[in-house]
Amino acid sequence: MTRDERRAALEQIANEVRGCTACRLHEGRTRAVPGEGDPDTEVVFVGEGPGFNEDREGRPFVGRAGALLVRLLGHIGWRREDVFITNVVKCRPPDNRDPQPDEIAACNGFLRRQLTVLDPAVVVTLGRYSMGTFMPGARIGQVHGTTAPADPETGARDALVFAMYHPAAALRTPEIERESFEDVARVPSVLLQARERRQDLEAAPGPASGQPDARPDAPPPAPSAPVLAAADPAADEAAQLTLF
Ligand code: URA
Repeated sequence: MTRDERRAALEQIANEVRGCTACRLHEGRTRAVPGEGDPDTEVVFVGEGPGFNEDREGRPFVGRAGALLVRLLGHIGWRREDVFITNVVKCRPPDNRDPQPDEIAACNGFLRRQLTVLDPAVVVTLGRYSMGTFMPGARIGQVHGTTAPADPETGARDALVFAMYHPAAALRTPEIERESFEDVARVPSVLLQARERRQDLEAAPGPASGQPDARPDAPPPAPSAPVLAAADPAADEAAQLTLF
């Protein structure tokens, strides 16, 4: 898909979100919040659901939690426009309550379609409800700061999932804020790992990559670029690499 095709496909999904009445959350919304960002990005951040400010503006993470998310991104030299930011539910739960399983299920098709269009290398989950969509059964206290391959059923067919605490939790608890800065510092090296994994999946087509069987005349796989050889999650220098 070209950038323009991706942008158009995302806008089509956003329009459907704005008209959606599939669950009770549409009743109280001012604006639906489909998500926004660079259609060519390799990294998608998935939060929980819009809050008061997001509901008024129709944009994700524009309140206090959003300000912290922008600081976290700034810590690794990234800007919010460089990534795509969305949520598991696209309409505000009343009084900022947790989204309910049937609401998450009703909205899941939108998230899956966004991820299918974006085909990210990395999905960063923010908080328990987002993590639960990509790492079912996991506990945030145990898996934050770690990666797992995405289930292709999520739409992110060849992505690594990286779990983080929700920025709102970091605003409440200094220890979680400190851990969130530590966790986000690992995201650039996770991206390097994810790029390398995608190259490997492309070089060995099979069901996991969603590609047809290898052609007998397929060219040999390209050697890994030197930058990928340095893809060590613990390597500080990897955190200095920019996204693009
Ligand atoms: N919290 C979320 O999970 N998403 C937003 O968009 C804003 C706050």
